[in-house]
Amino acid sequence: MAVDTGVQSGFAWSRGELGAFVDEVVAPRAAEADRTGRIDPDVLSACAARGLWGAVLPVAQGGTGVGMVALARLHEEAGRGCSALRSLLTVHSMALYALHRWGTDGVRQRWQAALVAGEALGAFCLTEAEAGSDFAAIRTSARQRGDGWILDGHKLWVTGGQLADVLLVFARTQTGPAAFVVDAANPGVRRIPVPGVTGTRGSQVAEIVLDHCELPLDAIVGPEGMGLAVATGVLDIGRFSVAAGCVGILQACLRACVDYAGLRRQGGAPLRDHQLVQQLISAMAVDTRAARALVGQAARLKDEGSPDTIMATCIAKQFAATAAVAAANDAVQLHGARGCSDDYPVGRYLRDAKVMEIIEGSTQMQHVLIADDACRNRARVVIVE
Ligand SMILES: Cc1cc2nc3c(=O)[nH]c(=O)nc-3n(C[C@H](O)[C@H](O)[C@H](O)COP(=O)(O)OP(=O)(O)OC[C@H]3O[C@@H](n4cnc5c(N)ncnc54)[C@H](O)[C@@H]3O)c2cc1C
Repeated sequence: MAVDTGVQSGFAWSRGELGAFVDEVVAPRAAEADRTGRIDPDVLSACAARGLWGAVLPVAQGGTGVGMVALARLHEEAGRGCSALRSLLTVHSMALYALHRWGTDGVRQRWQAALVAGEALGAFCLTEAEAGSDFAAIRTSARQRGDGWILDGHKLWVTGGQLADVLLVFARTQTGPAAFVVDAANPGVRRIPVPGVTGTRGSQVAEIVLDHCELPLDAIVGPEGMGLAVATGVLDIGRFSVAAGCVGILQACLRACVDYAGLRRQGGAPLRDHQLVQQLISAMAVDTRAARALVGQAARLKDEGSPDTIMATCIAKQFAATAAVAAANDAVQLHGARGCSDDYPVGRYLRDAKVMEIIEGSTQMQHVLIADDACRNRARVVIVE
């Protein structure tokens, strides 16, 4: 079925408007994306028509967005409808943000407008076989030769890797790690689709092989040797988006459970009248509000330009991802056997939520960062509201 792509002009970024778009266009196609491992291209076009691919950059910076509070709303609503789409929006936003903030003029001129418009999609290539949580261990090499770079390496788990046009690739130069913008059509790039992922199945994950991949000199993003700083900055955006997406999963679990508990009768009463079921629903409602408040705090700090947003984002991601897994687990429980069937979305929510605890810094890595910050800044931790 063709999707009404709407018009970008006048899109208000309100929760109502974003929610209606997700309810009408995104959510109805999420189960199919999960089954086929591919999001309907019409949904991607509908996002483009509303300016959603350029939302990480405010209008003043050449994007289509209106700030981080609105970006959180977008990624929450996308996560509520389809975590696979939210994952594509996440990595695209990470690539666009890096290119805008640290890219050379030549790279920005070549790609920024197309990425903002959603005419080109971006992906983020950091993980390798030996470099997971410890991403400083990357081995992909970048050698400077004549008037360009040559990249060789093998990237794993690249969200959107099957369809991306622009790859943000992290590699090791003679003076340390660096980031590069790679045209996915480069003959030195090969994509290997990764089927059967636990969750976010429609996000078209791929391995990316770089085999004597020749790049112009200005393909470097940020100073040579500063690649880990670029990765850290970009991961903050990814973490923020995933945290917001987890609020969406929480909201979706809550809605599904409230609806089901009102309809399903056992022991002579609707499930919602049983106190143990009420406890499950209550925990979801509390966690949804708490996670949304934490994401909102991180968003406001980003809009204010406060460095406190980095830790606020780690805390929001750790809380929201853990809570989303718990809520989705309880949502399957509350649906009984039906929760284990494809007729209800809660099984997908559980598989998607589990991925959120691994990507953009695992739950354990967030704990490491949060505890380290708490121990180093005891006084500040006590007073930050
Ligand atoms: C669906 C999906 C999409 C992804 N998309 C992308 C993408 O677009 N781009 C990209 O670059 N990568 C992507 N990834 C990879 C993801 O970022 C990594 O899987 C993640 O960083 C963890 O690395 P790892 O899998 O190697 O696990 P490891 O780092 O080997 O960790 C294994 C376990 O050990 C724990 N652990 C590791 N180190 C520590 C420590 N110091 N202290 C305590 N616990 C620790 C971890 O929390 C985890 O539980 C994706 C992964 C998935 C599943």
